[in-house]
Amino acid sequence: MSEDQFDVVVVGAGLSGLSAARRLQKRNPQLSVLVLEARDRVGGRTVSKQLPAANGVDQWDMGGQWVSSSQTHVMELIRELGLEVFPQYTEGKKVHHVGGPHAKIKTYTSSMPSYSPLALLDFTQVMWRINHLTQNISVEDPMSSANAELYDGMTLHTFMEKYIWTTQVKEELALCSRIVFGLEPSQISFLYFLMYSATAGGTLRLLETTPGSGQELRVKGGTQQLSEKLVEQIGKERVRLGAAVMTICQNSENIKVTTSADTVFCKAVIVACPSHLAAQIRYEPALPVERQHLTQCLPIGHMTKFIVTYPTAFWKQRGFSGEIVVRPSEDCPLSVTFDATSPRGSPALVGFITGVQARDWCDKEMEERRDAVISSLVKYLGPEASTYIHYEEKDWAKEEWSGGCPVNVMTPGMLTYYHPSLRKPFGRIHWAGTETATQWCGYINGAIQAGQRAGMEVLAQMCPSSLSQEELDAVRASLKRSDPRKDSKCSSSKCYYLFGVVMTAAALVTAYLLAKPERGFEWF
Ligand SMILES: Cc1cc2nc3c(=O)[nH]c(=O)nc-3n(C[C@H](O)[C@H](O)[C@H](O)COP(=O)(O)OP(=O)(O)OC[C@H]3O[C@@H](n4cnc5c(N)ncnc54)[C@H](O)[C@@H]3O)c2cc1C
Repeated sequence: MSEDQFDVVVVGAGLSGLSAARRLQKRNPQLSVLVLEARDRVGGRTVSKQLPAANGVDQWDMGGQWVSSSQTHVMELIRELGLEVFPQYTEGKKVHHVGGPHAKIKTYTSSMPSYSPLALLDFTQVMWRINHLTQNISVEDPMSSANAELYDGMTLHTFMEKYIWTTQVKEELALCSRIVFGLEPSQISFLYFLMYSATAGGTLRLLETTPGSGQELRVKGGTQQLSEKLVEQIGKERVRLGAAVMTICQNSENIKVTTSADTVFCKAVIVACPSHLAAQIRYEPALPVERQHLTQCLPIGHMTKFIVTYPTAFWKQRGFSGEIVVRPSEDCPLSVTFDATSPRGSPALVGFITGVQARDWCDKEMEERRDAVISSLVKYLGPEASTYIHYEEKDWAKEEWSGGCPVNVMTPGMLTYYHPSLRKPFGRIHWAGTETATQWCGYINGAIQAGQRAGMEVLAQMCPSSLSQEELDAVRASLKRSDPRKDSKCSSSKCYYLFGVVMTAAALVTAYLLAKPERGFEWF
């Protein structure tokens, strides 16, 4: 095989692309695999950085950081790579400040902030409603769920206006939307919100630090190690950095992949980058219109993540956990913070500026943002917050090869009209990336699951003998589900519709034949 000829090319050395490459190699060591990465580093939306700290320097994640015991794919990878996790610190009072800058600042130690009896009733009824809907969503084929079109026609905001009675609970859910997606509730399809929650096993899991929830555990030494260790397994020479893929041309023989640096040829491609960046690659022949339309309408959230390191964990001494949830205001850019003390004991806080706040604050000078963040921390945790060692921030919208974070979401109508093209291969081009996951979509776990799934698709296509019959059946079933319109089964409402059409046609034909019996002979 020539130097520029490979069996499979993977676009993107984030966790999804690297998991795909690893799966291919592990199952069939004969396959030659090349990973092309636009950045000069691996890890994509996970990146760890050394920062000045109480212990000299220490390591923090500036991108994805938490994992959970319920996230089977990432937990298995962590075990396999010999890494360790530790629990998110949650002891002490949490700060809760909604209702605007002049509302009372509340603290609580239970799992929920204190609500008025009416707000508590409201919260309970809306969470019951959302959980009930989430449990009945098909994550593989959300359009087969009851009332799918109705829910995909409304935004999360529309749902909130319709079913939430109190301003306080509306505000809580809006905060959740900013913290989880980096977007306002009016920017997200309600059906998409339900599907996203369902991939995690429920909405509360997206928000909490309890066992099984999204913010349960951290990885010692940072999450970028997952990618770095995967590269060691795959082979450094098989991962090309600084190679932004610009075109992918398929013909009956080969696929030609052109990067900013060179051109390579292969038999199959896995595209493992955020959907809106996958759309910027030029494809020949052009992608099906359905796929093009889908990727035109998948906005990505906006978040700036910050880490503030301190000489002491003064918040713990004052009885705080470090968790603050606040409705951002003109003076306060942040939405949420947590304790981020390192496993070596260097005290730190981590926080996020999200949604419209991220937009409004992103063009200001870093010093202005930093000062606003620090004075908010002083307000909520005490004057010691002003004596920090280091402030570090990362605005992911300004990263050329991410364009935002944490995930691309779907606007109303996208699931209804274009969802099948999300995972459906186009010729020998397969789609990975956390956006295509069915377990913890949008998360590190989803990236790994989607990469492994795309790897299995390619193996099934190129060398089916490297898979068991059970695995082959699973790949075929998953591909079939990714195009539900090919499925002979139809949803109950469609079946009734079809039944109605057939019965009406039969009745008309019968009536016609009865009225003109002589014509009847022509049918035989
Ligand atoms: C601030 C922040 C906080 C987060 N918090 C968490 C968390 O706590 N827990 C959690 O589980 N998840 C979290 N996430 C989400 C998580 O990091 C992502 O879901 C996951 O890393 C996505 O992996 P991926 O491989 O699908 O995509 P990416 O990591 O985006 O990888 C895609 C790769 O493709 C490359 N690329 C793009 N275009 C091209 C091209 N044309 N040619 C070649 N290469 C290209 C990119 O440079 C990138 O390296 C967070 C993300 C951010 C940014």
